[in-house]
Amino acid sequence: MAKTSTTTPSNSSSALTAESLWVGAHLSVAGGLHLAVEEAKALHFGGLQVFTRNQRVWVTPPLEADEVTAFRAACASSVFEERGRIVSHNSYLVNLASPDDAARAKSIDCECAELERCEQLGIAASVAHPGAHLGTPRKPKDPNDLLSEPTADELGGLRRIAASIDAIHARLRGYEVRIALETTTGSGTNLGYAFRHLAIIRELVKAPERVAFCIDTCHIVSSGYAHATAKDADRTLAAFDEICGLQHVAVMHMNDSEALPASRRDLHAHIGHGTCGKPIFTAVMQHPKLARVPKTLETEKGDAPNGKPWDLVNAQALLAMAKKLPLARASKLACMFFAVSLLVGCTGQWFKRTQVTKAGQPVVLRTEPTVDEADVLIAADRAMAHEDYDTALRLFRDLLNDNPTLSPAYLGMGQALMAEGDPQRAETAFARAVKLTPASFASQFGHAEVLSVLGRFSDSIDAFRRALSIRPMDFATNLALAKTYLEIDQSSNALIFARKAAEIDPTSAAAQVQLAEAWTKAGNGSEAVRAYEIAIELAEPSKELLLALVQAYGAEKRFEEAVNTAQALLLIAPDANAAERLGWARFRLGRFEEALAAYEQALTIDPNHWPSLNGVGVLKLNVWIKSEKKLDAARHEARAAFQQSLMINGDQPKVTALLIKYRLSDDPR
Ligand SMILES: [Zn+2]
Ligand SMILES: [Zn+2]
Repeated sequence: MAKTSTTTPSNSSSALTAESLWVGAHLSVAGGLHLAVEEAKALHFGGLQVFTRNQRVWVTPPLEADEVTAFRAACASSVFEERGRIVSHNSYLVNLASPDDAARAKSIDCECAELERCEQLGIAASVAHPGAHLGTPRKPKDPNDLLSEPTADELGGLRRIAASIDAIHARLRGYEVRIALETTTGSGTNLGYAFRHLAIIRELVKAPERVAFCIDTCHIVSSGYAHATAKDADRTLAAFDEICGLQHVAVMHMNDSEALPASRRDLHAHIGHGTCGKPIFTAVMQHPKLARVPKTLETEKGDAPNGKPWDLVNAQALLAMAKKLPLARASKLACMFFAVSLLVGCTGQWFKRTQVTKAGQPVVLRTEPTVDEADVLIAADRAMAHEDYDTALRLFRDLLNDNPTLSPAYLGMGQALMAEGDPQRAETAFARAVKLTPASFASQFGHAEVLSVLGRFSDSIDAFRRALSIRPMDFATNLALAKTYLEIDQSSNALIFARKAAEIDPTSAAAQVQLAEAWTKAGNGSEAVRAYEIAIELAEPSKELLLALVQAYGAEKRFEEAVNTAQALLLIAPDANAAERLGWARFRLGRFEEALAAYEQALTIDPNHWPSLNGVGVLKLNVWIKSEKKLDAARHEARAAFQQSLMINGDQPKVTALLIKYRLSDDPR
């Protein structure tokens, strides 16, 4: 199938046909894959879902070349030439969330085979049920909790799904077909009943652009999402848009539900014959962001009482709910939303407000860009990528001259000013973006960052928390919150967010370091040590990390380990600081000779290294005291070392106090 459309119904005919509205069904491939396309064409459908294989067996022989040729030939010169109109559904056996490694490996193999077939056939997306975590099951009567954070079992499952998808992507490098994660009813331990689950998986995956979504109307109603009134239905789609992004929806499953709403049961019914109600179908059929998404029925086949095939009857019911929408505009709008959300990295909702001009003419102040404005935003973004901030800023300013409420321009301006090192003016720009589009993650996050740079930590925390309410599982936001709470000495809050960051990305050393710092502030040295140790396992041990670990071991009186770590530190960073830390750790262990050698090494590297002079001083003082203050030479050496240290750094009250306490300066010499 060609990537660009050649056969889309013409704009002038904005007719409400199944072809123009991408309405279709899941059709049988009995007798050959291409026969499903032929049937869809005969029914004048504009969307199609197929099983590319027997979905109830693990292994399927690969596609024959003539099967592929026949399929592509069937698509040629029809609406199905346009990529995106045909999707596949994966095998019911696949469970990418399985905690059993062997079962998961088998699922990954099976999913890869499915995606390979799709890629050969030119199918743009393959629907996949996210998977079941198989941990503690809920009671069948327990309703889904759609708003809370996932439980530990669920989070484990979501993480396994993301890891499985990463493995699949790594194996199928460069494939264009996307996995479309489907919303589920939440039966058993199935994940995906909350929109949040799908968003978390996509956020965790290394190549999120290869992951799309599938919304099943029956499933979301059975899961418990509001649907009864037009307002409910709109709100549910808006929630999906905010949490997951409707621009990532690759296919809609249009099914009514035989089960009760929120029952967590998956029983498809013919459109208008179930509990879903008209508003949810109307909302889908009329949503501009879903205009170019296949809307496929997964309802029972056979003939309706009027003698017509049920698929046609159901499709007709859906078309009746679509209002006249200028299609060309709708599709342009969809593309534009996609470009802009890519550009600003957000799925924020855009707010429209009206104002009255001087002439009394009402004008719409847009926060969302027109197609032309989107082009300029993209050009500015490109300039930023080349570190040409002046050009970017000029473009943003031009845009704002014409449209002073264009939020993405403020956002870009803030980012450019930050890159130029002007946080003061950047803050003003971000604040405008936040005011215009408070639901935009990128605006809130950018604003929070700049507030932190300006030292306005509690304002920064408020902004990070607003960003977090938009994307609760965002790693960077959780980490930044931990860091910012530490700035204002709120270690218990810092701990909460550092823990969450470490949970979201268990492979991040930065999260462990943040966790260690929070534990240290909270006064729990052994947990701090543990976190630093994990950080070192996860990353190349850096100078900063080893230095922090020496400190943490010392605080826990684990001097043997402190010595070993300091030795490792000296190997990778042979500087005075490292040698001094080794001296200090040896001293605390009672290995005085070796401690002195390390201090001397430090002073050879840097004769003005005053902490090492203090180290020598303390050592010698120790020798003098142990000799019952008889060994005068040691006392002189202590005094000389402390005095030299004070000459380099006069602001050391403790050293001054030592000199006075032991009357080291009283020496008549
Ligand atoms: Zn499904
Ligand atoms: Zn479905």
